[in-house]
Amino acid sequence: MKLITTVSEMKETSKILCKQDKKIGFVPTMGFLHEGHLTLIREARKECDIVIISVFVNPLQFGVNEDYDSYPRDVERDQELAKSAGADYFFAPTVSEMYPKEMLTTMQVTKLSDVLCGAKRVGHFDGVATVVMKLLHIVSPDNMYMGIKDAQQVAVLQRMIEDFNVDTKVIPIEIVREESGLAMSSRNKYLTEQELQEAPILYKVLKQARQSIEDGVRSREDILRFIKEELLPLHAEIDYIEILSYPDLEILDTLQGQIIIALAVKFPNARLIDNVIVQIEE
Ligand code: AMP
Repeated sequence: MKLITTVSEMKETSKILCKQDKKIGFVPTMGFLHEGHLTLIREARKECDIVIISVFVNPLQFGVNEDYDSYPRDVERDQELAKSAGADYFFAPTVSEMYPKEMLTTMQVTKLSDVLCGAKRVGHFDGVATVVMKLLHIVSPDNMYMGIKDAQQVAVLQRMIEDFNVDTKVIPIEIVREESGLAMSSRNKYLTEQELQEAPILYKVLKQARQSIEDGVRSREDILRFIKEELLPLHAEIDYIEILSYPDLEILDTLQGQIIIALAVKFPNARLIDNVIVQIEE
């Protein structure tokens, strides 16, 4: 696996690979890799000739009071893990390499960013879309592998790619979980023992909600109320619980088609998100 830290070398490398007609799989991450990230690399490995992972904690997607400074980082360990999962190139630029000048042109996401994390983290998806648009120009991948854990991010970037006629296919990958059911996340590092005991309830209650839909419940309000009550014992602040169509992210009066049940909770040192996507056949 080769480490690349400059935009020019990454662009040059991708250009050569494209000329050689290699199918490039790309896995953009913010590092502090875990089994979720490694699953994306392994999927890319199965389907592509070349696998490129990027590790870049993107300042543009963090709000002023968010955890940009304390976001966990360990690029050396990340390189070992990425290599063991089969990556060919590890692109890890610095902030000044990615943003040598103030960005005077940025992406603006509308509608899809008005709900869920977008409503709570204003500007977040503009920052995500901006860095991913840059990365897509630098790497020129055929496929981009993304976790459904960040389902709104998948919807936003899929739409950005459509809107801008980018020649990259988004490949969504299922959420990788701890044995407890807790969705793997770099931020789990900041959970205390007690919080690690509590956090698996998020997926437990999402599964119960999914089951109630499969059993015929169609009231959005009833399901939201149920989830809220189940989460009351948590020592965390509920940021949102929502049910929307997926991937359009619209409120449905009657639940139908493909929907997402998504939630976010804030423990004192880590904000966690989770979701389930349900196909309602009728
Ligand atoms: P991040 O480093 O958190 O920005 O995540 C990089 C990519 O890994 C994103 O596409 C995430 O959705 C994906 N990812 C993060 N956690 C998981 C997980 N538990 N299962 C599957 N994919 C994940």
